[in-house]
Amino acid sequence: MTVIAAQLQAVHARIVAACHAAGRDPAEVRLLAVSKTFGPEAVRAAHAAGQTAFGENYIHEAVDKMAALAGLPLQWHCIGPVQSNKTRLVAGHFAWAQTVDRLKIAQRLSEQRPAGLPPLQVCLQVNVDGGATKSGVAPADVLALARAVAVLPRLQLRGLMCIPEPQPDFEAMKAVFLRTHEIYEDLRSAGLALDTLSMGMTADLEAAIHAGSTLVRVGTAIFGGRPARDHNVE
Ligand SMILES: *Cc1c(COP(=O)(O)O)cnc(C)c1O
Repeated sequence: MTVIAAQLQAVHARIVAACHAAGRDPAEVRLLAVSKTFGPEAVRAAHAAGQTAFGENYIHEAVDKMAALAGLPLQWHCIGPVQSNKTRLVAGHFAWAQTVDRLKIAQRLSEQRPAGLPPLQVCLQVNVDGGATKSGVAPADVLALARAVAVLPRLQLRGLMCIPEPQPDFEAMKAVFLRTHEIYEDLRSAGLALDTLSMGMTADLEAAIHAGSTLVRVGTAIFGGRPARDHNVE
């Protein structure tokens, strides 16, 4: 077994244990393997171990990786910031865009989604802990944005994602994730057909699962540590 296969297995075990502890069915929680900064061979090893959904932050790096892996049936999720000048690449290459936080970006993604591809699957990124400089739509504005995105022809709105700041302990982390879950349930009560709550990473996936996550995004625990990098630079 490769190191990546063993680490994937360990992450699945964490997900199952967290689901059992939270009284949830493990089938409700999908794993997104975050392969940013790792090469195609790492993705290939994860795929050989059964992983099909991969998350990438840096658009050009992702597109190069996809080209190197063309032919493998992989599902690619964009989980990095999407500026206007990157929407065409995202619309043309990814199955999912999880970080939509402005109507203008959503409209461009819908206009630029190629006709031959299925609708782009979208999550709205919520700035749930209110950092002034953070990306993500403010909780008070999520419903209006969701209603506007839900009617765009080439997008399918699937749910919410968040990247909260680390908290000092499990309960504090869970409380932040629970706020995102509440917003998600409010949208569903308002009639939006959502099925995806993307939250939880290597350090906090247990707290996220306790708070209702349906998609955990895990990089380090599968692929190992990454060199430090400024997340807003490409
Ligand atoms: C890098 C990244 C992850 C994975 O983080 P790990 O701590 O390595 O598991 C998840 N989500 C987003 C948005 C990321 O940028």
